[in-house]
Amino acid sequence: MKNQNVIYQQAKQYDSFYLYDESEIIKRIQELKNNFQNVKFLYSIKTNSNANVVKCILSNGFGVDAASVAEVCMGQGEHIQKEDVQYSAPGKTKKNIEDTIRISTLIADSLNEINLIDSVAKEQNMVAKIGVRLNPDFSFDNKEGVASKFGIDEAQFFDKLHDHSSLMNIEIVGLHVHIRSQELDGTKISSYYENVLNLAKRMQVSLGNPLEFINMGSGIGIPYEDSDNAVDISELGERTKELVKAFSKTFTDTRIYIETGRSVVGKCGVYVTKVLDKKISYGKTYVILNNTLNGFIRPSVAQLVTKYGGGGNLAGSEPLYTTKNPSQILVLKEMQETENLEIVELVGNLCTATDVVASNIALPCLEVGDIVVFTNAGSYAAVLSPMQFSSQEPPNELFLTCDEAVM
Ligand SMILES: *Cc1c(COP(=O)(O)O)cnc(C)c1O
Repeated sequence: MKNQNVIYQQAKQYDSFYLYDESEIIKRIQELKNNFQNVKFLYSIKTNSNANVVKCILSNGFGVDAASVAEVCMGQGEHIQKEDVQYSAPGKTKKNIEDTIRISTLIADSLNEINLIDSVAKEQNMVAKIGVRLNPDFSFDNKEGVASKFGIDEAQFFDKLHDHSSLMNIEIVGLHVHIRSQELDGTKISSYYENVLNLAKRMQVSLGNPLEFINMGSGIGIPYEDSDNAVDISELGERTKELVKAFSKTFTDTRIYIETGRSVVGKCGVYVTKVLDKKISYGKTYVILNNTLNGFIRPSVAQLVTKYGGGGNLAGSEPLYTTKNPSQILVLKEMQETENLEIVELVGNLCTATDVVASNIALPCLEVGDIVVFTNAGSYAAVLSPMQFSSQEPPNELFLTCDEAVM
């Protein structure tokens, strides 16, 4: 296991912690940047807003996909220019818009919001260049669009185009589309990009002015299960380069963005916790860990969904639930290693029976004090976990720098 010594060392001090690995993050950033040469990346801060992680990614050339005023401010704090801080979220308040209109590129999420941004811009005596998030007439899997709380239905936007052009304090200069996360099929992603570019082309013609940017959203997934295959980044990058080139006559000065969270950091963090207790009840062996549901929620949610999901359609369950086994569970023993496996119920220390990490799982024989490590804990992990529940001491978030310092 990578960083095993660091984990042992830190586990002496902390009963549970995240460890984010800067060198892994930078490796991934380089891979993305090298393969997508005519695309600019935005980091979706909501996936992991740890200050060291954000600083690392933004100082390596990523802009910001912000989902709140606070995330806009993080981008500004790292001196990211306004064009590369895109604030996209449903239900922005007037105050949210007032606070960000001068330091970010606002992406209107509804017809109401287009008007609201115009009125704020008017009050501030400015013309705001904005993007709109459209809910397109296509999807990843079939040709048709689907109902969504995000964005403006494509047809509605084009219907109302005349109303928008009468607004004096905004200029619509960008398109944003994001309809899926965690796609592992690179062919689907590239045909999605092509659909977005075609929509942008239509939009540019209808607006009668050149688009300054197209934000193609996310999509690029990461392998969670052992059976998942990673997206071939070099192949997808190549295909994207060709697509952008094919559209370059249409979009001469248009910036093309891809925003991503998990594909940058998802695999660059682990969650580390310790065995606090062990007991046998009616023949079942329970291993009790520190801060699971309330420290790293993903495995517990996966258990709940598996147990109570009822086989329903799980589309839209991201980023809380991705898959049945969202992490590999690894064991580090302070005492001597053991070859013996034991079937256990792996649970947390909260006063609720829902705090189950894994049921009926075969793991090396665990004793009190042993360390359990969960992989894939770099994204939608600390940020999603209900750490206030039971008022326990939350896990620490540690950042391992390229020169092996722990911050
Ligand atoms: C959350 C989010 C993303 C990031 O998704 P990942 O799967 O982490 O890459 C990108 N765009 C929007 C609009 C989002 O809401």
